[in-house]
Amino acid sequence: MSTLYLVATPIGNLSDFSPRGVEILNQVDQIACEDTRTSSVLLQHFQIQKPTFSFHQHNEHRKVNHLVNLLNGGTDVALISDAGMPGISDPGFLAARAAHQNGHTVTAIPGPDAATTAVAASGLPCDRYLFEGFLPPKKGRETRIREIADSDITTVLYVSPHKLVRFLNRFSEFAEPDRWICIARELTKKFEEVQRGQLSELIRIWEERESIKGEFVVIISGKSYSE
Ligand code: SAM
Repeated sequence: MSTLYLVATPIGNLSDFSPRGVEILNQVDQIACEDTRTSSVLLQHFQIQKPTFSFHQHNEHRKVNHLVNLLNGGTDVALISDAGMPGISDPGFLAARAAHQNGHTVTAIPGPDAATTAVAASGLPCDRYLFEGFLPPKKGRETRIREIADSDITTVLYVSPHKLVRFLNRFSEFAEPDRWICIARELTKKFEEVQRGQLSELIRIWEERESIKGEFVVIISGKSYSE
């Protein structure tokens, strides 16, 4: 029986990598990387020298067999994504399922993820929250937006920068203008912003920005929440 480790890596600040994450990457036989070039920066920084292979959303169905063969052959493997926790809007689920199904140990090494970091900083209720990740680009998108508008618990979304204003405007068609929102940008990085306000105000602020760059988490309060 071998072990598949899902190792969380920093979402922007290399100091957030845990000593145990480094230890596990130094200990395994091979490292599956979402992007071997992106991960080489992290691996070099921590002086980790291990064989790597790519494991991303376009090859994971094929590569999962390779990964299981390695585990079956007695090789311990770590899986890392470009940032954050593998499996969270990143490759990881198929690998973890296949490892379990083949009788191997699956261990997640905790660390940063953008959703939890943002929800903690948001000052919005986080006793219960729904992680929606990225909304589907087309089919089903409007249904999800309506559901979020109607939801009574906090929702956490990953939103790409070029869709941020469009998303907020679309959401405002189904939600009240005083809905509480938090926009967390570039978490743990030099230009981190955690901005909290009501929907109409945040739309105004972000529409006025000349350019919208970086990585974003959007937190939306439940519809009954007020302060
Ligand atoms: N596995 C990652 C995690 O654990 O959070 C998520 C990967 S997903 C492909 C990338 C998205 O996560 C970005 O588009 C953004 O929505 C969010 N994200 C990642 N890093 C971030 C950061 N430093 N600040 C804000 N959002 C971030």
